[in-house]
Amino acid sequence: MILMVLQSCGQPEPSSAAKNTSVAPDPSAKLEVAQIDSSELWSVTELTGRFDPAKHDDFALIKAQHTSKPNIYMRKQAYDAFARMFDAAKKEGITLVIISATRNFDYQKGIWEKKWQREKYKGWKDVDKVKDILTYSSMPGTSRHHWGTDVDFNSVDPGYFASGDGKKLYDWLVKHAVEYGFSQTYTNKNAGRTGYEEEKWHWSYMPLAGPMLTAYNRTVKYEDLNGFHGCEQAAVLEVFDVYVNGIDHALK
Ligand SMILES: [Zn+2]
Repeated sequence: MILMVLQSCGQPEPSSAAKNTSVAPDPSAKLEVAQIDSSELWSVTELTGRFDPAKHDDFALIKAQHTSKPNIYMRKQAYDAFARMFDAAKKEGITLVIISATRNFDYQKGIWEKKWQREKYKGWKDVDKVKDILTYSSMPGTSRHHWGTDVDFNSVDPGYFASGDGKKLYDWLVKHAVEYGFSQTYTNKNAGRTGYEEEKWHWSYMPLAGPMLTAYNRTVKYEDLNGFHGCEQAAVLEVFDVYVNGIDHALK
């Protein structure tokens, strides 16, 4: 029994548990009657990326003309919108290149575990390692890349977007992406946004990502984050509040 407790991850602290499992009447509940109950559309399994997009009917393979990577997928609705945006940008001499799209739990775990083994972390406390990795990388089970709605464009080097082609691309996205449903997720943190550092490359297809975040907040619990190093720090660091919901204020 003790072993089971030790192996289970993410036992929430009382404050977090109350936030995520509260059964007290919700004063805003009446306002939501007419809205879609998004928690019934996507399961915890799907929201935490435990599936294969290649075998999922709602996902489409991204064509070679749109990406630098083989065998990557997006949700069909998001990909159709992207394709329209790609064509519009192309007409203005801008080439959008998807360098990352859907990443499932296992893929994200691969990224996470590789970083966990970094030489520089020798002697660090787990909580400090987790905080450092979370600068740009999500814990497995908490990434918006699990959802098939979020993409990274052209480069993950912040410097790329500071001048030349990168700046031109970014300025075009800031002006036009919203016309196709896409918004920058992790904007400048000056306005009090928490979580990851600014990512000018990461854009969300909001018509789906909005309701998926609502579903995530309603259904995914800290106990669902397990099977990777440092998973017990998820509740300690309140990753749902600080990171999963640490998106641009206008997107909430
Ligand atoms: Zn990203």
